[in-house]
Amino acid sequence: MTKLHKCQECGNPISARRAGQEFCAAPCRQTFNNRRMQRGAELYDLFRALRRERSTASEMNLWTQLCRLELQWQTEDDQQRPGRRSYMPPQKALTILKDKGSLPRGEVLCKATRPRAA
Ligand SMILES: [Zn+2]
Repeated sequence: MTKLHKCQECGNPISARRAGQEFCAAPCRQTFNNRRMQRGAELYDLFRALRRERSTASEMNLWTQLCRLELQWQTEDDQQRPGRRSYMPPQKALTILKDKGSLPRGEVLCKATRPRAA
């Protein structure tokens, strides 16, 4: 017996022909991934600025703006695609980055740019 799942994009039932199938068809997968790419591009500049120009970013509440942007996306997703996950679980996201070799290895991920409080 085939277990029925919902397409992550359109919500229509799909019969998973293979483990982990998340979309009913290529157009749904493309729509989902195009939205991720567009949102990722929006995050890129904000996140880089946040990391590289911390004092200015802090004065401008960039972290708060990033969180507002994410909340806006979640609100849109809840309205347009209710009941369907629109982001990857943390473990899957990290696994994909590690598998692609995109995630640097090591313990230190950034250099301190300001003196630490004693
Ligand atoms: Zn679909």
